[in-house]
Amino acid sequence: MSSSGYWKRGGAPRVEGRFFEAADWDTVECRLCPHLCQIAPSRTGACGVRSNRDGRLITDNYGKVADERAVDATVLPLYHYYPASRWLRIGMKGCNMRCPFCNTFSFSQLAGVRTLGRSAADLVAAAEAQGLRGISFGVNEPLVSHEFVVDVFRLARQRGLHTHIATSGTWCLDPYREIVEVTDALTFGFKGFDGGYLLGECGGHLEFAMQNLATAVRHGRHVEATLLVMDGQANWREQAGEFGKWLAGIDTEIPAVLLGIEPAFAWKGEQTSRESLFEVRDLLLGHLRSVYIHDPELGFMDTACRECGRLLVRRGLAGTILTHGAEGGCPNCGAALPFALQDVARDVAAEAQQRPDAPGAPARDVHTDDQDA
Ligand code: SF4
Repeated sequence: MSSSGYWKRGGAPRVEGRFFEAADWDTVECRLCPHLCQIAPSRTGACGVRSNRDGRLITDNYGKVADERAVDATVLPLYHYYPASRWLRIGMKGCNMRCPFCNTFSFSQLAGVRTLGRSAADLVAAAEAQGLRGISFGVNEPLVSHEFVVDVFRLARQRGLHTHIATSGTWCLDPYREIVEVTDALTFGFKGFDGGYLLGECGGHLEFAMQNLATAVRHGRHVEATLLVMDGQANWREQAGEFGKWLAGIDTEIPAVLLGIEPAFAWKGEQTSRESLFEVRDLLLGHLRSVYIHDPELGFMDTACRECGRLLVRRGLAGTILTHGAEGGCPNCGAALPFALQDVARDVAAEAQQRPDAPGAPARDVHTDDQDA
């Protein structure tokens, strides 16, 4: 991390959250995600990072960065948006879900991760100094850091950087609209496609993720979807089929990226077999045009021209390499490339109005570290 940050147990200044309502008995109701936590005085919501302080909802993790590193777009994962580009990936703390197979639980479940206070300007400067394509929030669920993500992305886009989130997609509509306005690309992570399992075992809401993915597509954002294949469940094939049909009904061009489950956190089951991943890939290719398996050992991470089969993008342990020479199309047959290499259209004037310091922008109450105790 850059030396401009600072270590501190209490962390960066606390900022008042948005999307909450005062309720009875000095509680506040958080309206950021469908849990709609009723938070009693001095208590914290289910995500562990949004608190009731004197009847106001305070973000406990604003500007507290737990992980910051330059990574390849494939790592995010982001397969069809500027392949081979490099991004500043930011991880923070907290999550509104509690998946037993979470492989970043030290971040999501607040298990002893240290943080560094970073401002939006710090992160934008770090991305610019390293010549990166943009800034991505992932590792943990970005929605629980909503206000910070929005502030970072607004500034990043003003500076010509691109923005991406890897999310479960379970935001309430109003905060989600705000995020979509400032985000170029979104990767939605589906932990299977069984709403009952997701709610019961993970605390997630499948219908919100489905609705929010469709909204991002309607607004012209670049969208990709990952599917965690849990072949220990009786209906895993049916889930994969339903996922493929639903995604194809929105757009057959949305890339699907398959993930296998691995032993982690509280997971007692088996890890996904490679045969199951191959089977789901074949099944999804009956619905979608691009299906990848996010494992370099299995050999389904590359992108080839759909017309002539010429290799266009090679992905592997050594990184991602563009094997074509021109942005206009396949260098062999001239067919259109199946991924984005153009800037997403942006309304620069509207974004200037959204700046936190712009006239009419919503005020943010900043709380000092003295209040952390
Ligand atoms: S964001 Fe956190 S506090 Fe707010 S409703 Fe969701 S889990 Fe609860």
